[in-house]
Amino acid sequence: MSRIQLLDQNLINQIAAGEVIERPVSVVKELVENALDAGATRIVIEIADGGKQLIKVSDNGLGMDREDLEKCIVRHATSKIKTQEDLFRIATLGFRGEALPSIASVSNMQIVSKPRGGAEPHGYCLHLEQSSVSHVEKVSAAEGTTVMVEDLFATVPARLKFLKTAETEKSHIREYLSKLMLSRADVAYTFNSDGETVLSTQGGQTLAADIALRNAVGAIYGSRVARALRPVDLCLQDFAVTGFVSDPTIVTGTRSGQNFFVNNRHIVSPLLNKAVDAAVSDLVYGGKYPYVILFIRIDFAQVDVNVHPAKREVRFAESNRVFEAVRAAVRQAYHALPQDTPAAAEAQGLAPLPTVAPPPPAYASAPSLALDYRSPVLSGLAPQMTMPEPQTAAEVFPAGRHGLRILGQANRLFIIALDGEDLLLLDQHAAHERVIYERLKTAERRQEKQLLLVPKNVEIGQSLNKVLLENTADLQRLGFEWQDFDGTVLLRAIPVISLRTSAEQFFVELLEELSESAGSRALTEREDYLLYTLACKTAIKDGDVLTMAEMDKLVGDLLALPNYQTCPHGRPIITYLGRDELAKRFRR
Ligand code: ADP
Ligand code: MG
Repeated sequence: MSRIQLLDQNLINQIAAGEVIERPVSVVKELVENALDAGATRIVIEIADGGKQLIKVSDNGLGMDREDLEKCIVRHATSKIKTQEDLFRIATLGFRGEALPSIASVSNMQIVSKPRGGAEPHGYCLHLEQSSVSHVEKVSAAEGTTVMVEDLFATVPARLKFLKTAETEKSHIREYLSKLMLSRADVAYTFNSDGETVLSTQGGQTLAADIALRNAVGAIYGSRVARALRPVDLCLQDFAVTGFVSDPTIVTGTRSGQNFFVNNRHIVSPLLNKAVDAAVSDLVYGGKYPYVILFIRIDFAQVDVNVHPAKREVRFAESNRVFEAVRAAVRQAYHALPQDTPAAAEAQGLAPLPTVAPPPPAYASAPSLALDYRSPVLSGLAPQMTMPEPQTAAEVFPAGRHGLRILGQANRLFIIALDGEDLLLLDQHAAHERVIYERLKTAERRQEKQLLLVPKNVEIGQSLNKVLLENTADLQRLGFEWQDFDGTVLLRAIPVISLRTSAEQFFVELLEELSESAGSRALTEREDYLLYTLACKTAIKDGDVLTMAEMDKLVGDLLALPNYQTCPHGRPIITYLGRDELAKRFRR
């Protein structure tokens, strides 16, 4: 008899669980990531007994209909990739389709879900026992998904033995969630443990991005810290550092309040810790650390994330330059707003602030914006070259081909530039909308489109199919090309603009938008409306951090257009502050 046997499905799932599901926080991570992938704006996490007894994650995301609900716990079942090509541009957190079956194999699980905008008034609850479906029942539910995981590892004694006390497991979960609250401050979270609220944030649905982030800092470290934050904002050609640092008087004895995110992924980095130390060495006594929440945006080619199994550490191609930029960005945050008097700082047991930081000699006559932080950074850019000493804004910020000098970004919304002697502010979203709108118009005239390498199957359902039929001509003119199979379409081509989401998702969202606005619009307005919607949905948003190179390109594209002054909705894109106006304000 052959000795080799095929493993049964439950055993396969348990083996997979062994790799992914190590402890309660791993379950929380997988469930919360699924909620984020489903577009949730509100997520509630509840645990009992450190997650050993219960982990419950509820979201207001897309939800699942009965069919998807039954499929989601099948191994390698995922809605996130379909083709090999998708593998190379994954925008979601999960894609392997392994988490739910793995968790189900080592717990008792229930999933309640109701799809967003679904036809049925109720949702469904899927009951599982040891990863096989015991039954499905109709339940009343809000739109979204709730996953309940009970008795984790109860049937896997070897795993259970390795779990620590409830308090320790809970603190791992708190730690994971606090990083997430900072990196995705746009989402509202509540974390309850044994009936008590541990963390709770408001999210960014009604708040500006930086206020939502302050709010998250307050939830995690307390309002004393949230009130004492100074913005960090440094944009270079291919590199940006943004976020907050706490006042030099608000410090702790460990580095636990120091958070770094590289391209929005939380990492631990001794290099960045040291860069912050170096920045505050004359402000804070050794052994004390300010709170920092720093977001580093860098070209993906410049970081290697595969140096640590859990991807918690990264390696930078140009680590010296990153060190210098972060040090300079943090320093700049302190020297831009010196609030504390030396006496007050001394009273707190801190090194006195330098009264006036003397500018490095090369910059003595540079305008105020030409800042001490550019010196190390610029020299970092070209270590072999001796930099000419810039004397004016013109030299520090060379003009692009469009003639403007880009100085930076404000509020993650406005591009600040100089046009000769005039100061200019541009609305990045409105500017990009105009650029895309004009591009689409040209493409429409020339009948340009992008063919998808692999046509995409998109489930649109009956009601959207109707919308599709009503708008066929307009959508085709814009570059969409598809085959209709009554409720499912095979998408073959899309307009010539780059999308923020997958082509399928974009297509569905566009149809949804059209269905909501149907009727309210006369036929003649429809086509322009489609163009606006496409431009608006694909444009850079309020809240997006841009690098200098991105701003430069955007301004260049905009100024090449004849009608660059207003967006397609008619709102202004640019506002000027002339030299005279400025002089008047300073009573010169
Ligand atoms: P993956 O996230 O890798 O696709 P999972 O096993 O975590 O695999 O989930 C399987 C599928 O179940 C997902 O692709 C998604 O379609 C669906 N799903 C899981 N959780 C949710 C949720 N909270 N809301 C909506 N759909 C979900
Ligand atoms: Mg997942």
